[in-house]
Amino acid sequence: MIFFLFLLGLAVGSFLNVLIDRFPRNESPFKGKSYCESCKKKLLWYDMIPVVSFLFLKGKCRYCRSPLSLYYPVVELTTGVMFVVTTFFVLNNFQSNLNFQLSQFVTLFYYLFIVSSLIVVFFVDLKYGIILDKIVYPGIFISLLYLLLNTSYLLQHLIAATGAFLFFLVLFLVTRGRGMGFGDVKLVFLLGLFLGLSKTIFAFYFAFLTGAVLGCILILWGKKRLRGDTMPFGPFLVAGAILAAFVGESLLGLPWWSFLL
Ligand SMILES: [Zn+2]
Repeated sequence: MIFFLFLLGLAVGSFLNVLIDRFPRNESPFKGKSYCESCKKKLLWYDMIPVVSFLFLKGKCRYCRSPLSLYYPVVELTTGVMFVVTTFFVLNNFQSNLNFQLSQFVTLFYYLFIVSSLIVVFFVDLKYGIILDKIVYPGIFISLLYLLLNTSYLLQHLIAATGAFLFFLVLFLVTRGRGMGFGDVKLVFLLGLFLGLSKTIFAFYFAFLTGAVLGCILILWGKKRLRGDTMPFGPFLVAGAILAAFVGESLLGLPWWSFLL
């Protein structure tokens, strides 16, 4: 079971790599074959086996020997691990809940969809410094659909999404877009819909804390200057959201938080 989920995650991760490569360039992920970034030669099917091909080719193109992006195996392995984690989380947390109206399968599909979307957001923002509407909008649509099917969470998650959106809109306007992009504002609406109130607050807390700490380290290390250089904030939000979704409940198990749950 674990092995099968991991393999499924690797395969989906391989598809996410195609999205990460092509969406920022406005290319269709379904048209045209995968090709080498530097020599443009088409890849053979056995050069596209997740992780295995990368190791076999020692991270270099078969034809021109130019190094392949380390993103490919990292995205595939991340997706593989997250598929295992997500499935076990959903199976453990959504069975005994009496408020829960939907089958586990629908919830599992929803969680895997959102987690996969967030993996794309994470790596595209890291690589290109943009958050793609093509990923965020479908995520919002699927989340609204899921909440409409499972109305016991609808109101609380809508409040979280609206609150998160307004909070980041204010930050965006105050910093005049230099602190973060409008993509972040749209992303937090999705995160609010996915996480609900208390977990969204947890995710933001984590994102601002780690973002600030890492920002300071990079400045002290001389990698970033204080002005001008911006750091993409999306990866921090995604990391916070993933953490909040899967361990937030146990970390938030304090009395004064519990009324929000
Ligand atoms: Zn090549």
